[in-house]
Amino acid sequence: NGPLSGRTALVTGASRGIGRAIALRLAADGARVGVHYASNETAAKETVAAIEAAGGSAFALRTELGVPGDAEALWRAFDAHADGVDVLVNNAGIAGPGLIHEVAEADYDRVFAVNAKAPFFIIQKGLERLRDGGRIINISSGVTKVAFPGMTSYAASKGAVEVLTLTLAQTLGSRGITVNAVSPGTIETDIHPWMADPAAKAHAAGFSVFDRVGQPEDVADVVGFLASDAARWVTGQNIDASGGSGLG
Ligand code: NDP
Repeated sequence: NGPLSGRTALVTGASRGIGRAIALRLAADGARVGVHYASNETAAKETVAAIEAAGGSAFALRTELGVPGDAEALWRAFDAHADGVDVLVNNAGIAGPGLIHEVAEADYDRVFAVNAKAPFFIIQKGLERLRDGGRIINISSGVTKVAFPGMTSYAASKGAVEVLTLTLAQTLGSRGITVNAVSPGTIETDIHPWMADPAAKAHAAGFSVFDRVGQPEDVADVVGFLASDAARWVTGQNIDASGGSGLG
């Protein structure tokens, strides 16, 4: 029994990194969790096994995002396991490095397809499944608030997600559904292979006032709050989870 007991959650990109920590947190709070992944079945099974070992309930579902028809395919896979959803977390995302003059059109299209277009249509196609009083939580990034010139297309894709969050919060309020974004700072996951270099990691730690890089759980706990009844009066917001990065 927990604050989300009896509810069903779907977390995209939950095989690894931040998504895995979110899935574990929501399951610990009592939700049955759909652990979505793209291709790393071993990692997805590990997430499900970790949830079950802790006494929770989860199932894995595989869909490649960023390709035509991705959202329909995801919900078809989800429907095979569950009847409706209460908490939708759009977490799956890819990095898109590049200064403005370095970004190839195909790379821009790819980063937007996975990070911005997929969440848009996952929400659109999911609305009929999302129960009244539910939650949509979109994982954005601190790069929309502090300029990182080497991440132009990625930052723009996250900006799109934040504006979508604001817009939908207005639309879905009448159904008691809250829509929020969470913006992590630098979090230690596979998305940052350069963190294997201690000097680079120490440099990244310096972005935060706490002088460490974030861990996936630092983000998952914020998502856990937004998913709970305690956050019923919070909607249309972008919650910073960056350890005070860029404060001044
Ligand atoms: P990881 O690279 O560690 O994990 C990515 C997850 O997304 C995996 O579960 C992966 O599945 C899935 N995924 C990746 N591409 C696709 C795709 N095309 N279709 C479907 N699923 C896909 O990433 P993080 O945990 O670091 O990032 C999670 C989110 O947080 C992203 O939206 C990212 O932009 C955001 N973020 C991360 C920050 C950080 O510092 N780490 C900072 C700010 C925001 P599989 O295992 O099958 O490959």
